[in-house]
Amino acid sequence: MGGNSPCASCKLLRRRCAKDCIFAPYFPSDDPQKFAIVHKVFGASNVSKMLQELLVHQRADAVSSLVYEANARVRDPVYGCVGAISYLQNQVSELQMQLAVAQAEILCVQMQHEPAMPNPELIESIDPDQKSYFNLQNDLPQFFNFSSSSNVIHDSLKRETIFGHDMVS
Ligand SMILES: [Zn+2]
Repeated sequence: MGGNSPCASCKLLRRRCAKDCIFAPYFPSDDPQKFAIVHKVFGASNVSKMLQELLVHQRADAVSSLVYEANARVRDPVYGCVGAISYLQNQVSELQMQLAVAQAEILCVQMQHEPAMPNPELIESIDPDQKSYFNLQNDLPQFFNFSSSSNVIHDSLKRETIFGHDMVS
């Protein structure tokens, strides 16, 4: 590192790459885009400060996350990484709802196949027309409406395939 061939950072900033250049271990000269995008979003001096505040063994991970965040910000200038987080949170919500519906269906089927219920309270709660089940289904649109508020994020992520980007390099 350093010496004759400057790292990608020093090359872009047109400066001499010192032997102890903080960027050199993480921004090799053969991948100029990696530093260029981080520099564009965070600024070289900010990145330098952030790395200096960290222990040496933490810096590679910090660079990986900075590169990931910078890429996300460039691909999705409005939501950046938050777009990915929102998308995954919505997926979790939708899957939790699907799970609740599936569990309700299982419960209904179990009740239909158990004519003699041991617990009288449970018998009382059984609705022959499965009203409770349909009430649950009726509640679903609320949740889906909630999640559809961020469909923009969803769509933009699908377009950009943010997760396909190399986070660790
Ligand atoms: Zn350098």
